[in-house]
Amino acid sequence: MISSATLPLHQSAGPSLLFSDYHTHPQGHRLQPYTQALLQPWADSARELGLRDIAFTDHDRYYAGINFDEIDRLREKNPNLKIRAGIELDNDPIHSAAGRKWIEQHWNRLDFVLGSVHFLNRADQMFDSVPAGAEQFEGRDIDAIYTDYFRRVHEMAATGLVDCLAHLDLVKIHGHRPNAEIDAVVNETLDFIRSRNLAVELSTAGWRKPVDELYPADRIIELAIERRIPFTTASDAHSHLQLGDNFPRLAQKVSIFKIRGVCVFEKHKRNVRVVCAI
Ligand SMILES: [Zn+2]
Ligand SMILES: [Zn+2]
Repeated sequence: MISSATLPLHQSAGPSLLFSDYHTHPQGHRLQPYTQALLQPWADSARELGLRDIAFTDHDRYYAGINFDEIDRLREKNPNLKIRAGIELDNDPIHSAAGRKWIEQHWNRLDFVLGSVHFLNRADQMFDSVPAGAEQFEGRDIDAIYTDYFRRVHEMAATGLVDCLAHLDLVKIHGHRPNAEIDAVVNETLDFIRSRNLAVELSTAGWRKPVDELYPADRIIELAIERRIPFTTASDAHSHLQLGDNFPRLAQKVSIFKIRGVCVFEKHKRNVRVVCAI
């Protein structure tokens, strides 16, 4: 079997042709200032995969490593690839105040901001760390955690500083499922996202986690489609080798849901590109 990382996207099953990855971490999980040596492998991987549009979205706690001049240089060297300057803002109770301020200051040089919820009621640990974060769910009321999580997503959408919500149902990462129907809280969250005219990402990262499911779940995708909420496609790659991870499988989902367009961003302005000929 050919791994999805090496399968060219144009060979994917179905009529969809995915072309963009809008969630990537050149710095990984530590501060690494942007240089051509750090960034060029991402452009090379994009070309090998047939991707034409990628966004760098490092965690806001590493904002000091982001260098717009280096991104401009990379663009000059790779004229056939759209390279978007972005960042992933989260709800880190300690570091994100500085991140928000940095985003406000650099808003006009950024193309795209992702909004994420990585923290519940512990300030010292992201709940999505695997496997350690699972302990935050032990002995707890899972329905209450879900409600709390989506309340925090709502708060993130309300900041006015994000263009798109990342991994919308990340709370399922360790495989905990709510007992009650969560449609009400999800509907309320999606209504708010729609009212703010924000996008939601389809992230293959969930297929690499214990839950082994796309973010967001099929039911949430249906509810988002009903509201005409636009989607980006994303891998949440923390290495250039993960770029476009599982995109052939994602392309099948896109076909099944008859999602005809995927959105791209330039200086926060959204455009939709057709990916499905159905
Ligand atoms: Zn994230
Ligand atoms: Zn991320």
